[in-house]
Amino acid sequence: MANGNVKAVSFEGAVKTPEGLSFKGVIMQPVIDKCEGCARMVAFEDQNYCPSYPQPARKWALGVCNFATHAKTQTGTQAKSKVNPLKASKRSVKGR
Ligand code: SF4
Repeated sequence: MANGNVKAVSFEGAVKTPEGLSFKGVIMQPVIDKCEGCARMVAFEDQNYCPSYPQPARKWALGVCNFATHAKTQTGTQAKSKVNPLKASKRSVKGR
């Protein structure tokens, strides 16, 4: 999937360490299966890494990754369907 908002990132100068991929002072973990299809993934040697979030597993542990290009968060639709409880109460009294 081509996404014009995603910049091409290169891990040039990155070094693999026992803790993970060391890039510009940040230790990065490989992407997880839920990242499959995301345009932000960048391959380095035999694994893919995320330049937007160094620990993809922790990002997905809290729900859908908000940086993902292949999955959408629920916040947009939830915000639209939010109803003011006071107005909803008045509408129900009027029978609308
Ligand atoms: S942006 Fe999110 S979904 Fe995409 S590779 Fe990074 S952690 Fe995975």
